[in-house]
Amino acid sequence: GAEQGREEKGCWQGLRMDPLADTLQRLREAFSAGRTRSPEFRAAQLKGLGRFLQENKQLLQEALAQDLHKSTFESEVSEIHISQSEIDLALRNLRSWMKDEKVPKNLATQLDSAFIRKEPFGLVLIIAPWNYPVNLTLVPLVGALAAGNCVVLKPSEFSRSTEKVLAEVLPRYLDQSCFAVVLGGPQETGQLLEHKFDYIFFTGSPRVGRIVMTAAAKHLTPVTLELGGKNPCYVDDDCDPQTVANRVAWFRYFNCGQTCVAPDYVLCSPHTRERLLPALQSAITRFYGEDPRRSPSLGRVVSDKHFRRLRGLLGCGRVAIGGQSDEDERYIAPTVLVDVQETEPVMQEEIFGPILPIVNVGSLDEAIDFINRREKPLALYAFSRSSQVVKRVLAQTSSGGFCGNDGFMHMTLASLPFGGVGLTPSRKPSLITPNSTHPGSPAEAWSVTVSLPRRFGLTTQDITYCVHGSEHPPKACRSRRQAPLSSAATEKIKAKSTARGASGMGSYHGKFSFDTFSHHRACLLRRPGLEKIYSIRYPPYSPRNLRM
Ligand code: NAD
Repeated sequence: GAEQGREEKGCWQGLRMDPLADTLQRLREAFSAGRTRSPEFRAAQLKGLGRFLQENKQLLQEALAQDLHKSTFESEVSEIHISQSEIDLALRNLRSWMKDEKVPKNLATQLDSAFIRKEPFGLVLIIAPWNYPVNLTLVPLVGALAAGNCVVLKPSEFSRSTEKVLAEVLPRYLDQSCFAVVLGGPQETGQLLEHKFDYIFFTGSPRVGRIVMTAAAKHLTPVTLELGGKNPCYVDDDCDPQTVANRVAWFRYFNCGQTCVAPDYVLCSPHTRERLLPALQSAITRFYGEDPRRSPSLGRVVSDKHFRRLRGLLGCGRVAIGGQSDEDERYIAPTVLVDVQETEPVMQEEIFGPILPIVNVGSLDEAIDFINRREKPLALYAFSRSSQVVKRVLAQTSSGGFCGNDGFMHMTLASLPFGGVGLTPSRKPSLITPNSTHPGSPAEAWSVTVSLPRRFGLTTQDITYCVHGSEHPPKACRSRRQAPLSSAATEKIKAKSTARGASGMGSYHGKFSFDTFSHHRACLLRRPGLEKIYSIRYPPYSPRNLRM
């Protein structure tokens, strides 16, 4: 009776019935009460996170095996160990990271104290993908907790078993007044994003990154976007093909190719390609045996939807190695494609699977030009025995991260920031696209290109140029019979095209995570006295003011 009475009273007093809003409200109140601020509280959360990993290691490994057929080795090194070492690093350095940072002063502030204070933002949202479902939820979480925030964690719905462990077990190890796991796919995440957060940290595809940033913009919420794209891998003629093949194959087929920093395609001369192919075949056989389907070391594609997309890509170019697939198991053999065209889907979209196209280039200059004509990638690789060549690729390109003579080893270092580098600003605007079959005026080409892309054999990239080149239809188009594209359709095309290759913005790992999740507050403390000295700045102004 009393319970019912309270409930009724609650309703009458206007208590919200939306459980999500209530959860967020509870976290906000905990933050406002200062609960997360002390170093002791933060350390206790980080220790809890460490205990969660250690006490549930087997459970997590089983979940990862169910979701992705992830081997114990890959789970250990790329999920559990990496998360644990981030926790250990944060625990060792927490107090020094939290310390006010003294800064140099000018003449006018000599007697003051000037410093940067690292403050938590408040309530932060972390949205994670499925490919490293432990690492990519817990590593950002370490930064958010170390920085003293309250956190809502949204794991991916595709890695179901891991999602379940994160939702059911993880909260037991953390203070639940400051931390919550919210589950769901696009629709639920969309609803979550309608709420106001103080910071949003998103890892996932450029397409969804754009949705997240648009939602964040409504509240002017700052974001970090850890996105994807196509990571080029230049292989110079001056190389040992077997060493290169071992390293490229390991990183390409690790986690069944579902790694945001995996080498996406190889750029090399036809001569090097001929030396690389047998070396890649040898590496694949040594790693995964004669029948890779039976190898416990090779993962599986995460879902039927992703499998079908990847199987479609096997039709591009010519299969030189592998190419087999089995839908029941979501198995795709480690594959190498040759003779692919730049316009084929495998070279247009991020592959994110165990498929490696080799693209021929005539020279190092041509390779650098190829890279620079595309969006800035998340990672870039260059293999050569000549350090001059590696340094030239580094100097003449841009990418989120770079590794010479190996795969994604740079991201294993917590002392390096990990993140993308936004969009390439130097897109050439052009109305008539190179492979447009429509010979009409620019106005006609504009409306035809955007309205009938498929019929005219145009790719999304053509539309990108078109829409980037001209925000509005040319005058001729507006005044004549062609109907200009509706703004909703333009937005749709823009979203699809510009989001395609963006590698993201912001970075994390180690202290960079702590800094990402902290507001850097500019502070200056002045003594209340000494007014005589400071009064020289006041009006009425005279040459005397300038001497201060
Ligand atoms: P995704 O963008 O489909 O999903 C990521 C998250 O967004 C998931 O939690 C999902 O539930 C949510 N989401 C999906 N659709 C949504 C929508 N319409 N509105 C709101 N939220 C939505 O990405 P994914 O398929 O899980 O992961 C693969 C992508 O992530 C690849 O592009 C890969 O390169 C990228 N990635 C990047 C990094 C990095 O560190 N930069 C790491 C791993 C993966």
